[in-house]
Amino acid sequence: MPLRLSAVRAPRVPKGEEYDTVIVGAGPAGLSAAIYTTRFLMSTLIVSMDVGGQLNLTNWIDDYPGMGGLEASKLVESFRSHAEMFGAKIVTGVQVKSVQRLDDQWFLVRGSRGLEVKAHTVILAVGSRRRKLGVPGEEELAGRGVSYCSVCDAPLFKGKNAVVVVGAGTPPWKAPSSSAATSRRST
Ligand SMILES: Cc1cc2nc3c(=O)[nH]c(=O)nc-3n(C[C@H](O)[C@H](O)[C@H](O)COP(=O)(O)OP(=O)(O)OC[C@H]3O[C@@H](n4cnc5c(N)ncnc54)[C@H](O)[C@@H]3O)c2cc1C
Repeated sequence: MPLRLSAVRAPRVPKGEEYDTVIVGAGPAGLSAAIYTTRFLMSTLIVSMDVGGQLNLTNWIDDYPGMGGLEASKLVESFRSHAEMFGAKIVTGVQVKSVQRLDDQWFLVRGSRGLEVKAHTVILAVGSRRRKLGVPGEEELAGRGVSYCSVCDAPLFKGKNAVVVVGAGTPPWKAPSSSAATSRRST
């Protein structure tokens, strides 16, 4: 069958629409929030640069209760369809640039690609980024010995001779002990 290019369209970016709530970010937090807002019958728009957020950076999720050894992409897809099940509208590929209070009823949310919508409430679920050390080898070895979550990844270092935990982001008594439980020597 010949490919009809006209059938492939980027989703329309809303302009001038009004919602009960706009959620910025379609990671696990934003998609979870949408399940609640839509079940409360609030018209809900999720605006995000991507769907899945940090989950897109991993292949496997091992610690989701009841679903060990879960493919991250499948989890993202099920989060997305669950949010859409109750009517959340999701627009991706858009970066929100500003949230402005207009009056005691409305916020104005503006973003890239012409996004401009009004909402009674705005939920910011924009996640976080890893703070990097900036040391040689860090980029190349990310996911191959360099981790950013000691609680998540300690089991990967089981039986290793030495593990170095850097930083005070994770409570200092927690990070080394989770690594120490699985490796022979931790610093
Ligand atoms: C490699 C890796 C492995 C992991 N493994 C596990 C695991 O096994 N188990 C576990 O429980 N957790 C794991 N995590 C952590 C988990 O992915 C995060 O805790 C979770 O994704 C946080 O969800 P969030 O929705 O708060 O934020 P994020 O996932 O960061 O999502 C934020 C969303 O906001 C969007 N956004 C940000 N700014 C804007 C803007 N201005 N405009 C529009 N959109 C915006 C982003 O595009 C993104 O979609 C892992 C993380 C990584 C990086």
